[in-house]
Amino acid sequence: MSVVFPFSAIVGQDEMKMSILIAAVDPSVGGVLVFGDRGTGKSTAIRALAALLPKMRAVVGCAYNCDPEAPDSGLCAACRDARATQASLKSRQTPVPVVDLPLGATEDRVIGALDLESALTRGEKAFEPGLLARAHRGFLYIDEANLLEDHLVDALLDVAASGQNVVEREGLSVRHPARFVLVGSGNPEEGELRPQLLDRFGLSVEVKTPEDLETRMTVVRRRDEFERDPEAFVAKWKRKDGKIRRQLESAKANLRDVTVPDATLERAAQLCMALGTDGLRGELTLIRAARALAALEGDDSVGDTHLKRIAAPALRHRLRRNPLDDAGSTTRVERAVEELFGA
Ligand SMILES: [Zn+2]
Repeated sequence: MSVVFPFSAIVGQDEMKMSILIAAVDPSVGGVLVFGDRGTGKSTAIRALAALLPKMRAVVGCAYNCDPEAPDSGLCAACRDARATQASLKSRQTPVPVVDLPLGATEDRVIGALDLESALTRGEKAFEPGLLARAHRGFLYIDEANLLEDHLVDALLDVAASGQNVVEREGLSVRHPARFVLVGSGNPEEGELRPQLLDRFGLSVEVKTPEDLETRMTVVRRRDEFERDPEAFVAKWKRKDGKIRRQLESAKANLRDVTVPDATLERAAQLCMALGTDGLRGELTLIRAARALAALEGDDSVGDTHLKRIAAPALRHRLRRNPLDDAGSTTRVERAVEELFGA
């Protein structure tokens, strides 16, 4: 495996880093959509985060990397059957996967398909797992999500939300676990996602090429240092990456115990009403993301500070165009936050 740029060495891009960490703590937040120019390190950040996570235990020989500790409902059919006859499932350590969904990938390749070879040679109806199977327990990265066909994005979002991939076709009926954090990148200049799809992504962030001199110099210096001697660079950042790993692990462990007071729910509802976001998805995401943020910071209850910081990523992609207000969506969210919470 090639050496990956350390997460903690990524300069700036705080909103993107926060959002990815939140999605990793609570995948039910619904993934992250990253808008920005090429070369702003969108895919670097995902790879970096996956690389700092501890290796996971996976069942030997399973195409879905099933977790040997998972309850039966979280296993694929083969592992479920194996568990019924064996005392324990044999497992191995494997890195947390980051699967790239290339542009132009067919539905069969993504979702999985009938294994034609075994169908033809042995007359068996076998399932050939797709990219969703490989992404189980890891990250699925879609470059240029806005260029993907709507029906494919829709199917992906369904699987991401349910954690199950259900394939019914050609007399084949397969269901397998597919829990992954969905991260999509988009270039705002090339096609738009339909608002209905946009709304189904949990968080959205905008990344820009840094404009101040100091930051640009630091970015180039670190990149250069990394490329000249990757191992030494990674060693230098190991402690900082370790700190983030521990933060993430304790956030996952404590998430269930973080409380959401009624006052916070009320604030979230007021904010969504002020912005006129459709439906309840925005509010639910806002609360879940704020709770994951509180867990990351070691707080045991969600308050205004968490809501304020996550408001723009949770809501900016859910605003309807307002013909009387041509301010950008980020500005509109920031304005509403300021009016409601005070500066
Ligand atoms: Zn399995």
